[in-house]
Amino acid sequence: MARAARVSDSAAEIIVIGAGIAGLAAAWRLGGAGIDVRVLEAAPRAGGLIETERRGPFLVEWGPHSFLHNAAHVVALARDLGLADRIVLARPRARRRYIYSRGKLRRVPAGPLSLLFGTLLSPRARLRALREPWVARGASAGAAAESAYDFFARRFGGEFAERIAAPFASGVYAGDLTALEAGTAFSRAVAWEREHGSVLRGALREWRARSGTGAAARPRGSYSFQDGMGELGAALAAALGDRLECGAAVHAIERAGSGWWIRAHGLSGDATWHARGVAIALPAHRAAEILAPAVPAAAAALAEIPYAPIAVAQFGVRNEMLTRPLDGFGFLTIAREGPPILGCLWPSAIFEGRAPEGVSLLTVFLGGVRDAEIRAATEGAVIERARRGLAPMLLREDAPVEFAAARVLPRAIPQLVVGHTARHDRLSGIASGLGTIAFAGNFLGGVSVEDAVRSGLQAAEALLVGVREPGR
Ligand SMILES: Cc1cc2nc3c(=O)[nH]c(=O)nc-3n(C[C@H](O)[C@H](O)[C@H](O)COP(=O)(O)OP(=O)(O)OC[C@H]3O[C@@H](n4cnc5c(N)ncnc54)[C@H](O)[C@@H]3O)c2cc1C
Repeated sequence: MARAARVSDSAAEIIVIGAGIAGLAAAWRLGGAGIDVRVLEAAPRAGGLIETERRGPFLVEWGPHSFLHNAAHVVALARDLGLADRIVLARPRARRRYIYSRGKLRRVPAGPLSLLFGTLLSPRARLRALREPWVARGASAGAAAESAYDFFARRFGGEFAERIAAPFASGVYAGDLTALEAGTAFSRAVAWEREHGSVLRGALREWRARSGTGAAARPRGSYSFQDGMGELGAALAAALGDRLECGAAVHAIERAGSGWWIRAHGLSGDATWHARGVAIALPAHRAAEILAPAVPAAAAALAEIPYAPIAVAQFGVRNEMLTRPLDGFGFLTIAREGPPILGCLWPSAIFEGRAPEGVSLLTVFLGGVRDAEIRAATEGAVIERARRGLAPMLLREDAPVEFAAARVLPRAIPQLVVGHTARHDRLSGIASGLGTIAFAGNFLGGVSVEDAVRSGLQAAEALLVGVREPGR
């Protein structure tokens, strides 16, 4: 059937491309400011990486599981959407986090005292880490190009960097500590050093300041929604209504006088929209492709951002099959020690209602930059490898499971590697020069859901100025 071309035109219209949480947040803000906004999303559903699946009696997260107590933008957005009562706090025990090392799950120290008595680090390394408040800043302190490994090794010692910070970088970025840029990937720790001369001192001051705010402060810990993180995307999609168009894959953006043409393959044929402003809330590599002809300098900066693959495997397991109780959030692994997984979350131990009574849900993460071949793995191969990874500490390889499923995300997490700040500045300079294009997404200033929401809101603010300012 021949595809019909559609053209609509509106001088005040802003198009948001991509309905991940960043694009949805941008559109929500723009709509709230009275802008005629439309969101174009390639997939059949909104939410992007956020995807909660009800699988029989299990509530399975294929993307993010939680956000932290300090995720102010997520909480404010949830409140605006009427979801405040749906927010759930993780069980207190979920504060325990483990790292698998030297044949055992070992508690990650939650503070200086547990650092002193924990077994993750050698006695010498523990003392070195505790000397952190007295370590001078040094010449490389605050340098934009310092790697996260160099930062943590400088502040806390090499063993701390390898055995605590590196698994953490695997858990959050599926990344390599030696490649990540300290100032972007661990911006709070770097700010604490800058402002207080010490990471531990800065963390302590922040903790005291939060405690001082009394009842208004949200208890520390991880949060989600009663029916999982998908509630947030679903509520935004419902609020946007027919301003959100799923199944519309944008393939080109071209200049149109003071605005833009946006060309997409839609469910009902090819379509072209005219917009005064565009919020680009796509993964960086996808944004690079569609921007290359019209704004090559932006496309070049976007194309430089590397991505790590992740595979996710899910298992429902009867509790008696587990070789230890799930008394925490989950565990991470140390690359050098070899288990073929990045780590495992214990969703049914973290939140209520994720698995039926007597059964546990395990979510295993594999791949990352340390094992990039995972990109090509089949579902069966991921499940098999995840089972091998769980065998030493949690679940015998031949133990029966209630269900098993897996997915591979070939480009899951952007890597905020050394040089990112410079790249980000280049991109921001181009966007503010144009005025009518803004970028949003997890490839800008951080990869958490909170970072993505914040970036979406910031893109909306920039566009509100850009499209309303006469003479642009
Ligand atoms: C496995 C995993 C676990 C995670 N866990 C956590 C966690 O526990 N806590 C946390 O805070 N963060 C977590 N994150 C990170 C967080 O989920 C993401 O950074 C965030 O959801 C990204 O949102 P986004 O809108 O920037 O991008 P995306 O969600 O990637 O959205 C981009 C959207 O653009 C669409 N798109 C692509 N091409 C086109 C096109 N041509 N035209 C139109 N649309 C297009 C895509 O379909 C998608 O919907 C996790 C990430 C992963 C992968």
